[in-house]
Order: sequence, then C-alpha cells, then structure tokens
Amino acid sequence: MTDAILVIGGGIAGINCAMNAAKYGVQVYLVDDTASIGGMMARLDKTFPTNDCSICIEAPQMYEVANQAKIKILTQTEVRRVQKADGVFKVRLVKKAKFIDEEKCTGCGACVEACPVSLPDELDGKVGGKRKLISMAFPQAVPNVVSLDSRCRSGQMRGAGACVGGCAVDCSQCRECPIAYCVKACEKEGKKAVMLWQANQNIDLDVKSIVVATGIKNAPPAGDLLGYDRFANVITNTEFERLMNAGGPTAGHIIRPSDRQPARRIAWVQCAGRGLGQGRGTPYCSKVCCMIATKQTIIAKEHDPSVATTVFYNDLKAYGKGFWDFYRNAVGHGVRFVRARPYAVSEDPETHNLGVRCEDLDTGSLRSHDVDLLVLSTGLIPSERNARLAKTLKLALDPLGFFKEKDPLLSPLETGVDGIYLCGGATGPIDIAESVSQATAAAMKALCFQT
Ligand SMILES: Cc1cc2nc3c(=O)[nH]c(=O)nc-3n(C[C@H](O)[C@H](O)[C@H](O)COP(=O)(O)OP(=O)(O)OC[C@H]3O[C@@H](n4cnc5c(N)ncnc54)[C@H](O)[C@@H]3O)c2cc1C
Repeated sequence: MTDAILVIGGGIAGINCAMNAAKYGVQVYLVDDTASIGGMMARLDKTFPTNDCSICIEAPQMYEVANQAKIKILTQTEVRRVQKADGVFKVRLVKKAKFIDEEKCTGCGACVEACPVSLPDELDGKVGGKRKLISMAFPQAVPNVVSLDSRCRSGQMRGAGACVGGCAVDCSQCRECPIAYCVKACEKEGKKAVMLWQANQNIDLDVKSIVVATGIKNAPPAGDLLGYDRFANVITNTEFERLMNAGGPTAGHIIRPSDRQPARRIAWVQCAGRGLGQGRGTPYCSKVCCMIATKQTIIAKEHDPSVATTVFYNDLKAYGKGFWDFYRNAVGHGVRFVRARPYAVSEDPETHNLGVRCEDLDTGSLRSHDVDLLVLSTGLIPSERNARLAKTLKLALDPLGFFKEKDPLLSPLETGVDGIYLCGGATGPIDIAESVSQATAAAMKALCFQT
C-alpha cells in the first residue's frame, strides 16, 4: 500500500494541491508536461482583483514546492499509462529529454546567450517575443534549468547556424555535438550540462490517489475574427498581458505591433466571436474575461493616464468578492465601458489605425470607433492535452472538453473514477482564487481517499 499522491498539472492549482497534501506528510509527485511549473499565472503581469504582481506572488510558492522534501517535481513529463491494481494506481510516466543534466545546470544562461538562433515564443504571438533554441521557460522557472529544442540534435539546426560548422563527422551519425555553441559555452563555465544524447526516461509510480489540475488556455481567434489574421494591431488579451508585462517582450511598453509605437487609443472586445457561429468564438461565458479586461485597462491607465481605453461589452461579469469595486476603480481611472457589439473592423493601410464598427446595444444604432490597438477577449478553453489524458485515466470530458465532475452540485471535484479528483481550470474557466480553494479541497479529498 502507498499514501503517495500524483498531481497532474503544475499551475497555481496543482502547486497548491501539492503543498497542502505534502503538509500532511505524504509523498506527492507534481507532474507538468512543460519545462517549468507555474502555468498561466507565471505569464501574467498583474492579477485582478488586487493587481498584485502575478509572478511575485506565485514564485515564492513555486520555490516552496521545489524545496518541500515530500514533493517531487517532474517537468516535461507525461502520464502515459494508469492501471488500478491491488488498491493502488500504477502509473507510468515518461520524462521527455530536455537534453540537459538538471543536476548540473545552474541556470547561468551562458548557453542561451551563446545560441545564435531565435524562434518566435508561441505565447507572445503577435507581440513578437522570441526564445532561443536553448532557453529557460521564463526567468523564475522551477526547476531553474534550461531545455534544448529537440531539433538541435543530429545537425538539424546546423543550417540555421546553431554550430560553428566544419565538423568531420556526418551529423546524422553523431549523437554528440561538441561544436554546438551551447555545448561550448557550458563547457567554458566549467560544466557539462548540455547532453544532446539524453533519452526519454520511463518512471513507474504507485499512488493511492490522483488530482488532475491541467488548467486552461486562451481561445485562439478563429476565422479571421474581427480582422485578427489580417491586421497587425488586432491582438488577443493574452498577447496584451504579455505587452504590459515588465518581463515580457516589450519590457512592459504598451506598443502596437505594426510600428512598435505607443498605443494611444485602445479598445477591448468582450465575448469576441460569441454568437457568430462557425466555431469563431467560445459558445459559453468564460467568467473571468470581464475582470481581465478591467485589469488591463487599469494597468494601461497606470502606465499612461492619457491613453484612451474603451471596453465594448454585452453583460459585465463582476461575480466575485471585490470585483464590482475593481470595475468602479477602472471607471474612476477614466475607462469607458460601452454596451456595444463590434461586428466589423477595417484598417487604414497607411497608418494601420483600425475602424471598429459596432452596434450600440442600448439604442440599436450603429457607430464607428477609431483605435490604435484592438484587444480581443476570446475566452478560456480546456488544455488540448485533456482528451489524451482523459483516455489514459478513463475519465469523461464534458462537451466543452473540460473534465467532467461526478456531480457539480453534490460531488464537485470528484470524477467517475474513485480516487481521481479535479481542481482549477481542469473543471472549467476559473480565476486564481477559486483555483486555489479548489486545490485545497481536492488535496483533502485525495488525502482522505481509502480504497
Ligand atoms: C490573459 C489572462 C489573464 C488572466 N488574468 C487573471 C487575473 O488577473 N486574475 C485571476 O484570478 N485569474 C486570471 N486569469 C485566469 C488564471 O490564469 C487561471 O485561473 C489559472 O491559471 C488557473 O490555474 P490552473 O493551475 O488551474 O491552470 P494553468 O495555469 O493553466 O496550469 C495548468 C498546468 O497544467 C499543465 N498541463 C496541462 N495539461 C497537462 C497534461 N496533460 N499533463 C501534464 N501537465 C499538463 C500545463 O502545462 C500548466 O502548467 C487569467 C487568464 C488569462 C488567459
């Protein structure tokens, strides 16, 4: 028998679940399939409704889990197989190679500096962030080690300039690469942490219960939603979050992508795409977007009070504690909230300014609004990895792709499989405070579970 618990997903929900369970002395495995724990919160600037710096409040928790003797963090790790036998879950994990010796890497960054090849950072999207072929997920990453793009092996990035070239050995026959810039830079620091020959590793665990905390992601704008595909200055709210983040690609300068000049007139479109059909918007309310936009307007105003900020909304969701005051705070900063539904966007080809055509929802009249930057609040959707994980865990998903609770009213956070629980964005769109409460409850359920 074992008391151990597996937590799948290392966002703020998974972190809190692991910390709560470990305080009761049980062994906890915290697994994330990306290079660092932290989840979405690690990429945010400030957090509603307090406007605390997101990473400043999450990083101490990330370090606490990393230093808690009873928690083993496994990043870039997937849950491959789960079988119930003799009252325990027998779990096969696959730890994907980072091509780095995590014990030897000190996160000094010499290899990153030396790497000459940059790729677009997926999350930064249009606002232009880049990452190197060898990179740290973000400066506060836990574990604080780099990982290497798997394409760097066997000379695949040689053409892009990842090595000095001139090697006598045929790349396809060689698993090491002593001439890669990152390898050389690491050696110069007196370490040999870059391991191009590193293989994936299978890890087998016995656990008594499992908590799924696989989170959410921002819905991508589909079908050229309000000109997103055509116009550089139409961005998503996640891209705006990266723009205003001091640790983001513009060091916190709110510029517009077309000419990198400060955005002076910014508008947000709430429920972007909803009601348009053809899969162009989430068919449900994501609950947090109104407060995300409210936060972003306040921060934009704090950066520069002369910036004009307008929120086009349908129904304002200010459902949580302190949320209405937060909205009033934005109004006090001079933010305009307009009940209107934007339906078309045009661009001036010379200035790249945008014309937003909307229907006023109070009067029914049509009007036009000129802006420099348009931010689409597209809503939250489940992790695309949920389907595979649900199959592995024999769990059901709801029609939206979130994990299905046994009974949302009387058995929330429980699933159709005894001993497997849910928390945070795995259950549906959610904010941080609710994710943390659910994580605490799921930890207790996982601790108390008896076969
Ligand atoms: C633009 C934006 C701004 C926001 N601003 C705020 C705010 O100001 N205040 C607020 O309260 N909320 C805000 N939110 C919501 C907030 O991000 C979520 O409430 C929070 O991230 C949910 O935490 P989580 O741990 O459940 O999920 P996530 O943060 O999504 O973390 C999930 C983790 O699970 C991992 N994972 C996923 N699938 C698997 C798998 N199959 N195997 C292993 N690991 C997996 C992921 O890599 C990730 O690390 C915002 C969201 C967005 C998009």
